[in-house]
Amino acid sequence: MIDEFIKKNLLASFRMAQFNQAFYKDYISSFDELTTWSKRLREELKKAVSFSTLVAVKKIESSDHGTQKVLFSRISDDKCFESVLMRHGDGRNTVCVSCMIGCPVGCLFCATGKMKFVGNLSAQEIVDQVLHFARLLKKEKQSLSNIVFMGMGEPLLNLDQVMESIKILNSAEKMGFGIRRITISTSGITPKIFELMKRGYKGRLALSLHAPLQKLRESIIPIAKKYELLELVSAVKAFATRTQLRVSYEYILISGLNDKPTHAQKLVRLLSKTDPELVHVNLIPYNPVGKAAFIRSSSNAIHAFADVLTHAGIQNTFRVTMGDDIKAACGQLAAE
Ligand code: SAH
Ligand code: SF4
Repeated sequence: MIDEFIKKNLLASFRMAQFNQAFYKDYISSFDELTTWSKRLREELKKAVSFSTLVAVKKIESSDHGTQKVLFSRISDDKCFESVLMRHGDGRNTVCVSCMIGCPVGCLFCATGKMKFVGNLSAQEIVDQVLHFARLLKKEKQSLSNIVFMGMGEPLLNLDQVMESIKILNSAEKMGFGIRRITISTSGITPKIFELMKRGYKGRLALSLHAPLQKLRESIIPIAKKYELLELVSAVKAFATRTQLRVSYEYILISGLNDKPTHAQKLVRLLSKTDPELVHVNLIPYNPVGKAAFIRSSSNAIHAFADVLTHAGIQNTFRVTMGDDIKAACGQLAAE
């Protein structure tokens, strides 16, 4: 839209650079702050282009103020979705963006999966989530360290818009955000992982694995029926080898379902025959959503599971659930 405005008004190309500097690097909070442009030009811009594709309609902070969830309404159709800012307390701040409203994958443990699929978000709608939090952090004299596609939706099923948003976030002329600080998390759409490689994606990848066996995985991730586990994992290993970036295998621990030491041993086998430097398992305690049919694993079970991985030389961490009290940890978003 800004491109159209510049073209239509026959503005010199340096105007674009001035706009990008103010909008994507200085994180101005309204076009009035675009002071490298004349007041008259700014007024024209305000008439033609809206400052954001989104309106923040609600904000909820966790009791420790570490996590903030924002409910956005998009101006094109007033439909709502959520994003989360996680302040890790050590200066690092992660924004967890949504790429869809709802999700067609329908994982049984996921609040978004329980909603029906409403639609894809556009590249600018994704970027505007990031800018919202970048502006907020700037006011606190802080900055954003990581962007993760772990909010609502499956990024690899909205790949064009996700890749376009990453181009805007990463390009030196626009936001200039380091590609290695961006993570796409996927439920595992095997052909799209090859597509990511073909498109030259150099950012990080997380695979929501959650089970080391085909049938078990199918029972909680419906789309797993379409993509065979061994083929999926070998695609992800190929991605890691190509990018030489460590892949994070996400594993939600659900009591009695996938948290036994035998599951951990199967997981070790599944992730073997690859450079251990390129493997990281992120253990996530299940967070009950809605009328939950699942139960979170006990801390004993989680530790026993982690011990098996550690013994086998597989790096693993235990994800601290942030923002529990506001149901705002990544991937548990639902616009109630
Ligand atoms: N669709 C993508 C990205 C969004 S989900 C994907 O599935 O990877 C982001 C993460 O949150 C995933 O690892 C997902 O499995 C996890 N998640 C979803 N529901 C959860 C819950 N109830 N408890 C803990 N983690 C959950
Ligand atoms: Fe969709 Fe990811 Fe939730 Fe599964 S976990 S329903 S893929 S958002």
